[in-house]
Amino acid sequence: MSVNTKFKSFPHGVHPPEAKTETSAMPIRRFPFAPVMIIPLSQHAGKPAKPIVKEGQEVARGQKIAEPDGFMSVAMHAPASGTIKRINWAPASNGKMVMSIYLQPFPASGQDVAEGTPCDWKTATPSEILNAIQDAGIVGLGGAAFPTHVKLKIPEGKSADTVIINGIECEPFLTTDHRVMLEQTDDIFMGIRYLMKVTGVQKCIIGIESNKLDAAERLRNAIPADLAGNTTVEVLTVKYPQGAEKMLIKALLNREVPSGGLPVDVQAVVINVATTAEIGRLLPHGRGIQERVITITGPGITKKGNYLIPIGTPLRYALEQAGVKADVSRVFLGGPMMGQSVSSLDIPITKGTSGVVAFTEAETASTQQKVFPCIKCAYCVDACPIFLNPSRLGMLAKNGDYEKMMEEYHLFDCFECGSCSYVCPSHIPLVQYFRIAKGVLREKKAS
Ligand code: SF4
Ligand code: SF4
Repeated sequence: MSVNTKFKSFPHGVHPPEAKTETSAMPIRRFPFAPVMIIPLSQHAGKPAKPIVKEGQEVARGQKIAEPDGFMSVAMHAPASGTIKRINWAPASNGKMVMSIYLQPFPASGQDVAEGTPCDWKTATPSEILNAIQDAGIVGLGGAAFPTHVKLKIPEGKSADTVIINGIECEPFLTTDHRVMLEQTDDIFMGIRYLMKVTGVQKCIIGIESNKLDAAERLRNAIPADLAGNTTVEVLTVKYPQGAEKMLIKALLNREVPSGGLPVDVQAVVINVATTAEIGRLLPHGRGIQERVITITGPGITKKGNYLIPIGTPLRYALEQAGVKADVSRVFLGGPMMGQSVSSLDIPITKGTSGVVAFTEAETASTQQKVFPCIKCAYCVDACPIFLNPSRLGMLAKNGDYEKMMEEYHLFDCFECGSCSYVCPSHIPLVQYFRIAKGVLREKKAS
């Protein structure tokens, strides 16, 4: 039986090869501490955190080292016990230099974690839970790194009726969320209790694609009695980009988030499953995020797997631990569809790093194809999950007609899933064009 026979989904989308089987059965393994860790103060959407430690200071693993700077910001915690060596600029995955805390772990730094003030879901008020989530440094672990407390704050005058736990993980190669669903089941349900209390919502759906039926079954069989009446597990068709919030809401609730709108506009709140597990694991102990699960895989890796990696571990060190082949030529943070190709290995693993995928020269050469003119086949139009016209947008981008792209062709509704580029037989890098156009328009607006 095909994995796609009978389940819910959304219109359009694509089916890239999954490449997940090499790591999906591999249990999460813990990484050692790197000799030096680099913790960027800006590893979330919004304002960078403010450091509260000084150079030369000794810190304990889990100790808070930076405070949120305003509502759109979260705290940072020491990933290991050690000494603060420097607070200085360091390269980040987007090519920018970011103010960062350099931490040198003690040679015998153990796995014990400092605890703060516990937040009990039964007695805490919604606003206390929101504060605890911000204080624990929790952001969307699916890759967006959007502060979770901001997402969970229902705006005045709006309400939600459904919390959706996003266990889709539709990016090829990545199995991080799959392993979390299999191994951190209790944490996920504990997280759901916090999420329902903080949003005041009575209905929770865990969405999982049909290539992870073992995870769906595990979670379905483990729903605790107090959640049994209002929490369900729904299996969906395998299709990219089903993990995008708007697509998941369409597939599960048949509701359409309006152009420029948010999930709450259709009474939904969507939270990644690994983020949910972190809430359930950290809040009862008053702890902060010091590590996360990351898939390290791809043809260029010798020991592919799912690893629990301290935040701030340099990518070069992570790749050494996982073993890289000599002819690795391209490394992606995140998956190959929406992830970023990195130009330096001296950047750290951050809260938003869901995967590291390494390709060798053989695969890179086969993807560097010649770009041909558009043949108006409309494959890209059929692929776009939000019904944009990528072909038309591409032509406007080529002519630098960015205003028209925005005003008449809804450029800013494009969430850069890459489905259009993926299907284009002329190999036109449509999504790159759209990123450039958005960047130019944003700069224009700011100046
Ligand atoms: S136009 Fe944007 S949203 Fe549509 S397929 Fe292309 S990248 Fe995805
Ligand atoms: S898929 Fe490529 S060639 Fe076909 S219409 Fe779209 S841009 Fe043109």
